[in-house]
Amino acid sequence: MKFYRCELHTHTVSSDGKMTPEELVDRATECGYSAIALTDHNTVAGVKRAVDAGKKRGLTVIPGIEWTTFYGHLTVTGGGSDVLWRDITPDNIDEKIARAQSLGDVVTIAHPLRMGFPLCSGCHCVYDRAKLAGADCYEIWSHYYPNEGVVAQKQLAEWLSFLDKGCRMAAVYGYDWHNRDDVPPSYACTYVGAESADGKDVLAAIKKGATYVSVGVEADCAAIVNGREYPIGSELPAGETRIRLTCTKSEDYRSDKPAELTRFAVVTERGREEMPIRFGKTAEIITTFDKYCVVEIYGERKREEQLLAVTSAFYRGGAR
Ligand SMILES: [Zn+2]
Ligand SMILES: [Zn+2]
Repeated sequence: MKFYRCELHTHTVSSDGKMTPEELVDRATECGYSAIALTDHNTVAGVKRAVDAGKKRGLTVIPGIEWTTFYGHLTVTGGGSDVLWRDITPDNIDEKIARAQSLGDVVTIAHPLRMGFPLCSGCHCVYDRAKLAGADCYEIWSHYYPNEGVVAQKQLAEWLSFLDKGCRMAAVYGYDWHNRDDVPPSYACTYVGAESADGKDVLAAIKKGATYVSVGVEADCAAIVNGREYPIGSELPAGETRIRLTCTKSEDYRSDKPAELTRFAVVTERGREEMPIRFGKTAEIITTFDKYCVVEIYGERKREEQLLAVTSAFYRGGAR
């Protein structure tokens, strides 16, 4: 399994983006992504052109759509359920999510706590959270300066509260890419641990929760139980758990690289434990938990300590 750089939330001129599907694919290729998902607002009009352009450029383009409603936005990727958004209501959103999943799609709660009206109608998610509990992913970070500021902190906390309730939701980042951004402001990347960069493999890996979000850090993270190693997203057997982590600086991340790492934390339903870590050095935390365990990586960037990466969970206790 290898971790691929992916961008799962993008727009084109088919909705309110500034790039044509071909320009988006060209730009994503230049930026070094292995896969992107096209998620225009309530339309798949650009998907075929983007997929065709991707085939020419060797870039995986996953068909998708952003269900854009007055109550919140969800990206739906895989391409099986493009018309379900038409009659979404706060009452049936849970059924719509389940229906999309039954058609093979991955459903992501997009930028749930971003500022809404009057800046962006429907961007702030007001759906009953219990009705979103079946979603596959949660955008803990989105758009520019994704790991900085209070929205990121609140989204991380809300995602953890879903895990605490027994939900199995992968952490993803959504650039919500609309413009060409030749000199992009600070952004992050979703790394997906898949068998290949093929669309099916990437979607399957996201469903399993083999993801982490990062600003300039590549993380090799595994859980070790009874001498056996498990990747991010795994259901772990009972027993003492060692979380092992080695990080390198991402070479292809282009702005505001972290200077050095400072510490990493293992966060479980029981609390958090921390350990110092540096680039290129392996560190371990021994932990016990019954539900979930996620890893946060901190370092120096822009001359302050920032949260630079968050993994999806390792789980115990069976699927929801
Ligand atoms: Zn949106
Ligand atoms: Zn969007």
